[in-house]
Amino acid sequence: MADKTPITVARGDGIGPEIMAATLDILSAAGAQLAIEEIEVGRSVYERGHSTGIEPESWESLRRTGVLLKAPITTPQGGGYKSLNVTIRKTLGLFANVRPTRSFEPYIRTHHSGVDLVIVRENEEDLYTGIEHRQTDDVVQGLKLISRPGCERILRYAFEYARQRKRKKLTAMSKDNIMKMTDGMFHRLFNEIAEEYPDVETDHLIVDIGMARVADTPERFDVIVTLNLYGDIVSDVAAQVCGSVGSGGSANIGRGAAMFEAIHGSAPDIAGKGIANPSGLLLGAVKMLEHIGQSDVASRVQNAWLKTIEDGVHTGDVYREGISSQRVGTKDFAAAVVDRLGQDPEKLSPASYPVVDMTKTKTSPRKRARKSLVGVDVFLHIRWTADPRALANDLLDAAAWPFQLSVITSKGLKIWPDGAPETIQTDHCRCRFLGIEGRRLTHFDVVELLARLADRGFDFIKTEHLYEFDGVPGFTQAQGE
Ligand code: NAD
Repeated sequence: MADKTPITVARGDGIGPEIMAATLDILSAAGAQLAIEEIEVGRSVYERGHSTGIEPESWESLRRTGVLLKAPITTPQGGGYKSLNVTIRKTLGLFANVRPTRSFEPYIRTHHSGVDLVIVRENEEDLYTGIEHRQTDDVVQGLKLISRPGCERILRYAFEYARQRKRKKLTAMSKDNIMKMTDGMFHRLFNEIAEEYPDVETDHLIVDIGMARVADTPERFDVIVTLNLYGDIVSDVAAQVCGSVGSGGSANIGRGAAMFEAIHGSAPDIAGKGIANPSGLLLGAVKMLEHIGQSDVASRVQNAWLKTIEDGVHTGDVYREGISSQRVGTKDFAAAVVDRLGQDPEKLSPASYPVVDMTKTKTSPRKRARKSLVGVDVFLHIRWTADPRALANDLLDAAAWPFQLSVITSKGLKIWPDGAPETIQTDHCRCRFLGIEGRRLTHFDVVELLARLADRGFDFIKTEHLYEFDGVPGFTQAQGE
């Protein structure tokens, strides 16, 4: 008998305890070798005053086992509560969210047949860093942060996933036609890493048309890799159009830890009634078994589940006259899966689960670029009625040597020099000062410029330094420049 793998289990809120009990019963009957530690997360922990929904002691268990099987939780209404999922993902560095989406027609109602796609979503960066500020009466900002190692890690994971699972095609989605530096870096690295994987067919889609195609013809996709925000949206679109929200499981993978769960919530409307469908959490647990190297048990569980679905034994959310043979509650559904352990599905394709070798997802060594300061963008809070030419005159007065005023923009669009008269202004603008004749600048030059602006009563709300890296500008041109 194999050694037991320690895992941490959180039973969650609402239907969580019911579907977790069903899932653990099936895993145990299938012969999973698990040493379970339990922690409490969610509503009761929030209500005891822990704003993240998890108690400090629970981290010890998570760090010890490195594996969390988590039932959904209820996030209390009102301010001050932080998302438990975001906290766990960030604290444990779970950089990849992996969501398989399959259609199980004719058994589970779907808008599309023949779908078997996997979405690999970057999980730690992008607009989800939550760095937001109010800068003026009119304007708030959120920072989109994308890192080279962050992109490389998720891309390598997706390529390894495609190769090791013998998937045919990997599609990247980004919006690099607009976000040339952030999404541009993701797309460029995708192309670079693709050269190391000639066996994986690749393509790249601009995310808007990409998502439209996922909604329209999801069966044409195989593996999709994308950034955090796009991944969040496209994985819900895919689950919705395939009808797999109730049966979707999700894995959050990091180098030292991983979390597995259902994609649905705690369904408080049906909690305690014994009718919830445990399939989403069960399929999340299948991914967990695969992750901890118990792939044979993972396949046995998924095949028994597929056979149960094929035999028409369905919970109420899936049950349909003419298709289903039996409407069952949570416990009886679990018992039906247990009865079918060792059987393979006859119509739905059976599962086989190789483990993704995480050592192949290491990021490459980085070298530091030669970095030089060539200018500064100063963001100002201005009057709504400010005339760009008068503003420019005042700024030209402040922009003494070694700076020259290069451009003023409103929401990224040029308003001076030669701005379009119809450009709508707000009370927020960006003034770009560059070193005269490409002169290299120092932080002291910037501080002196700011002092001169302050002397003249300018309300500067933020500065952004303009650097060249090995002679290549590390900033975009203004729109219209
Ligand atoms: P939900 O997914 O809980 O429920 C939506 C609908 O689907 C409900 O009608 C529900 O009865 C049904 N449903 C969901 N899961 C089902 C299952 N396994 N079997 C049968 N029917 C099922 O979404 P919601 O109502 O928007 O959210 C409820 C709570 O869950 C909220 O507090 C939300 O914050 C939380 N939530 C948690 C997670 C998580 O922990 N990962 C994810 C999403 C939502």
